[in-house]
Amino acid sequence: MAVERTLSIIKPDATARNVTGKINALFEDGGLRIVAQRRVRLTQEQAEKFYAVHAERAFYGELVDYMTSGPVVVQVLEGEGAIARNREIMGATNPANADEGTVRKAFGLNVQENAVHGSDSPENAAIEIAFFFAGCDIVG
Ligand code: GDP
Repeated sequence: MAVERTLSIIKPDATARNVTGKINALFEDGGLRIVAQRRVRLTQEQAEKFYAVHAERAFYGELVDYMTSGPVVVQVLEGEGAIARNREIMGATNPANADEGTVRKAFGLNVQENAVHGSDSPENAAIEIAFFFAGCDIVG
């Protein structure tokens, strides 16, 4: 399997509860390396642009409000098959359906406040990494 990079976001519900380090430990224990990381407060414009793919969905406004409600930690994770691996480590979108041992099972509150975002394809990973990081910010 090829070494890949994926964009991860530790969301406002998780930063509010001060569990960034615990979530990072799950990524590292799962075989991923954090090769870039920054704590930021997203603007409304940034959140709208990042989630533009969901613009037609009923929860889009709520999602943008939530993602701008507090700081997030944006990060690039690297490893063998990192995009799919990170989705496994994250667990299902709704924490109620997430497997034991996943980030969302351990730290997600509900279908919206679900602790983490992770890119879902190589194409989106490239777009989402470039949204937050310059090449020189990523040190593998
Ligand atoms: P993901 O790839 O597992 O993050 O899931 P999606 O791409 O389907 O959704 C993006 C994000 O929108 C999720 O991580 C949630 O924060 C939020 N979301 C998804 N479904 C719902 C929903 O039914 N209601 C609300 N309020 N938020 C949702």
